[in-house]
Amino acid sequence: MCSVDKRFAYASEQRSKIWREIEIIMKTTKDENRITQDMYQELGISDKVYRFSKDILNSLKARFDEIDQTAEYNQLKVLKAMQDNKVSEACLSGTTGYGYNDLGRETLEAVYASVFHAEDALVRPQITCGTHALALALMSNLRPGDELLSPVGKPYDTLEEVIGIRPSRGSLAEYGISYRQVDLLADGSFDYDNIQKAVSEKTKLVTIQRSKGYQTRPTLSVAGIGELIALIKKIKPDVICMVDNCYGEFVERIEPTDVGADMVVGSLIKNPGGGLAPIGGYIAGRKDCVENAAYRLTSPGLGKEVGASLGILRDFYHGLFLAPTVTAGALKGAIFAANIYEKLGFKVVPDSTESRHDIIQAVEFGSAEGVIAFCRGIQAAAPVDSFVTPEPWDMPGYDSQVIMAAGAFVSGSSIELSADGPIKPPYAVYFQGGLTCEHAQFGIMKTLQSVVDAGIVQI
Ligand SMILES: *Cc1c(COP(=O)(O)O)cnc(C)c1O
Repeated sequence: MCSVDKRFAYASEQRSKIWREIEIIMKTTKDENRITQDMYQELGISDKVYRFSKDILNSLKARFDEIDQTAEYNQLKVLKAMQDNKVSEACLSGTTGYGYNDLGRETLEAVYASVFHAEDALVRPQITCGTHALALALMSNLRPGDELLSPVGKPYDTLEEVIGIRPSRGSLAEYGISYRQVDLLADGSFDYDNIQKAVSEKTKLVTIQRSKGYQTRPTLSVAGIGELIALIKKIKPDVICMVDNCYGEFVERIEPTDVGADMVVGSLIKNPGGGLAPIGGYIAGRKDCVENAAYRLTSPGLGKEVGASLGILRDFYHGLFLAPTVTAGALKGAIFAANIYEKLGFKVVPDSTESRHDIIQAVEFGSAEGVIAFCRGIQAAAPVDSFVTPEPWDMPGYDSQVIMAAGAFVSGSSIELSADGPIKPPYAVYFQGGLTCEHAQFGIMKTLQSVVDAGIVQI
């Protein structure tokens, strides 16, 4: 053979070798996808549900990419706060007794203050839940004769008893603190005229709930909250603007304290605990507001100086560090659910394309069976208690039966995969959480399987 022929033979041999390799790679990728699909099948997901879900997931790549970019920014924001405040190994262990000079507690509060670009923060396991954190912020910053205003309609259910909208022992009303409310307009925008009229010399504190909670109004964007605060401060510059930040943390790049809020308040068994905090709440904001809250939480004269952290701080730090990506996973699950159920013809709030300002997804089934099937799907997807079947029950404080699904590592944690729905028209289920994107997606696939198996929809 002449050398040209030899080179040709060599080249074609190389080419077929490369092709063989490509074939092997393609075959293994195919096998890997098959292995994953088989695993879904073992977990009760039919081929039909799998394919229906995967098609929708494939259409959401650009959307998910945007969420990852927000998570990237927020991850760096949290990391920088930890580095700037010199979090050290010593911060991870706790104190007992009075808890004087608790380095870990003081540093964690400084980290929260940095994350929220606030002057100060109170972050404690002694704050038992979100309602407690909100009650603390209100009761410590209001005095007899003051008035509280909600310019965004009715607040979260549990706050009705804190405020005294529903008569309750120990409410603000019992202490002579009055309450006023201005509802949002029919299109979800602020009723500026009536807000202007509602602010008086008595108005001391304005409470703004970011998330819609169990209502059908839209969740407020941080920019929208900023506009509202600017208007209120124009009417009355010294009024305290507090934001109930539950479910909103890390969904956007900015937080309400970046747009003029004097205080943000939330629960550590939602977004900022990253699924690891087993209890707790936070208040971040203006130094005097946070100090008032500290004197109320512990005692006048003691304030932030006491409150042993016991052994809990490692989880608070660890959870906060993971919170931006955990929130991103939950957000992807919510968007996936909106797209699945909207495609099947149900009303979903927010809808499949709307921008997101919290992690909650509502799906209106229009029937009790739909709500129940959805919740059973969520339960069956849980890592804990997956084998139990949730049933509607008469929960105290509600005027209808309620069904709840949760199989969480932290009891009641709603940053973990969870859903609940009152058994009454419009038969809507509220879904949130998922510690990883993969688990949130699997949970939604299980709801679809359950809804299909119950004969409620066909795909
Ligand atoms: C969850 C929540 C609360 C109350 O928090 P709990 O921890 O359940 O007491 C208050 N406001 C909003 C908007 C919430 O989502």
